[in-house]
Amino acid sequence: MDFDTTLAEAWVRAIAAAVAEEQQRLTELDSAIGDGDHGSNLQRGFTAVGAALDGLDPAGPGAVLTRTGTTLISKVGGASGPLYGKAFRAVGAALPGPAGPAEFGEALAAGLRALQDLGKAEPGDKTIVDAWTPAVAAFRAAARAGAGLPEAAGAAADAAEQGALDTVPLQARKGRASYLGPRSVGHQDPGATSTALLFRALAEVTAR
Ligand code: ADP
Ligand code: MG
Repeated sequence: MDFDTTLAEAWVRAIAAAVAEEQQRLTELDSAIGDGDHGSNLQRGFTAVGAALDGLDPAGPGAVLTRTGTTLISKVGGASGPLYGKAFRAVGAALPGPAGPAEFGEALAAGLRALQDLGKAEPGDKTIVDAWTPAVAAFRAAARAGAGLPEAAGAAADAAEQGALDTVPLQARKGRASYLGPRSVGHQDPGATSTALLFRALAEVTAR
């Protein structure tokens, strides 16, 4: 199985559904250490992505993800919009056509690099990077070991969820939560949590 146009669309629509379902939780997490808009930011962004895809006749999976990123950048005001937007655009740009597990793993790594180029966050800063980094590592390790897309995506989702949990004891060093200093400790990072949703959605659609 390759990551093709159909899977790319299914992934993005599954993220939209997961965000809609978990919006309240993301909002609560962001209320604790931010301004409480992470759930509504992503909800607005991925609703717009769904509408953008409805009118699109994409040339390939890369085009789907590039359009997703562009839409997120234009529709989401919060920090997460440009960050996820750049990441999706970079994943899309790294997919000239349908991709097997190894190539898709490289595309996810390109997404992480774009995220870090823009946000300058390192692992341990209590951000999206804390879930995306272990997810990419797990995906690539699985692909190297010969796993197919569903298995690699499942490993990535597990790693992203663990990465999100592991943000709880961290003090935020980037983004709005960093203004709280030590008071950001003891809360799970909203962005790392939404990244876990994104990788779980990938695992679900590839396992269908
Ligand atoms: P805002 O902080 O502008 O209100 P959101 O609430 O939508 O935007 O997103 C907050 C999330 O963005 C944080 O939980 C964090 O994971 C992520 N984030 C913030 N700054 C950065 C950064 N520089 N690099 C990576 N992720 C970041
Ligand atoms: Mg916020």
